[in-house]
Amino acid sequence: LLAGLEKLRDEPAETEDGQRITLQVNTGLMTDIVRSIERGAEGVGLYRTEIPFMVRDRFPSEEEQRLIYREQLSAFAPHGVTMRTLDVGGDKPLSYFPIEEDNPFLGWRGIRLTLDHPEIFIVQVRAMLKAAEGLNNLRIMLPMVTSVIEAEEAQHLIHRAWLEVREEGVDVEMPPVGVMIEVPASVYQARALAQRVEFLSVGTNDLTQYLLAVDRNNRQVSELYNSCHPAVLHALLHVVEQAHEEGKPVSVCGEMAGDPSTALILMAMGFDSLSMNASNLLRVKAAVRQVNMTFLRRLLNEVLAMDNGEVIASYLDLQLTKVG
Ligand code: PEP
Ligand code: MG
Repeated sequence: LLAGLEKLRDEPAETEDGQRITLQVNTGLMTDIVRSIERGAEGVGLYRTEIPFMVRDRFPSEEEQRLIYREQLSAFAPHGVTMRTLDVGGDKPLSYFPIEEDNPFLGWRGIRLTLDHPEIFIVQVRAMLKAAEGLNNLRIMLPMVTSVIEAEEAQHLIHRAWLEVREEGVDVEMPPVGVMIEVPASVYQARALAQRVEFLSVGTNDLTQYLLAVDRNNRQVSELYNSCHPAVLHALLHVVEQAHEEGKPVSVCGEMAGDPSTALILMAMGFDSLSMNASNLLRVKAAVRQVNMTFLRRLLNEVLAMDNGEVIASYLDLQLTKVG
């Protein structure tokens, strides 16, 4: 199967009637770089910076971080690399920074933690900026944002870090800053957030978890975890509309983007780019190249009129099998 798909590596992700979409990869480990380049990724839509933090037994220094980030940025240049600031807490523990909470998913995680520890945040951003010197393909993305206050505070710290490194002689442009939409509050703040940042990216893994109140890692309730639930689909549509009304690009970097049937629905909604694990990229590209926008828009209208998430999921699978 993969042998057949490999020939698509340098072909565009374009429908039969010429609609293009940018396909990017989610990375974290060094090994993801090679696999992504092999599959012709158009940059990185989500670099999970917490992964190099999680595999260590102490916080990496600014210089250690700079070297790690440089590898990502230089491997994908001139394509953009979207680096998410440290997203620990919840399901992502750091052994050397223990957090004890009754409700970790509703607790101290993502941007909340780094805004309370600006010294961690600033060191990370400084390392990113230094790593981007001479390449300027860095984009910075903020996880778990629930309010414009958090976005503004983080932007302020990023700007401060940028002034610092410039002062020290590092020749780097101020990178675009974006926020993840992955909690219900940010869905309804999408316009206000889009007005303040350069791009939005929907984290459908957490967004599904929080909209449906279903722990993404709890097997007991895994049957209830469904990104095709109408609440999720309508939230996604709302986010695209709000972002585009503000003239800002919007992507999806959750697992939904890497499943051909849901990826096509996201394309129909108008998302500008999809970011996925490298292993899914060519399958998604193959699916995109086999459909046209008339078919996709009709499919989208059909599923938006349905009210049962399980029916929607199986209907999409069925439609895709017909296409493929
Ligand atoms: C998400 O929540 O959809 C996402 C992409 O981030 P993570 O899976 O790392 O929480
Ligand atoms: Mg997330």
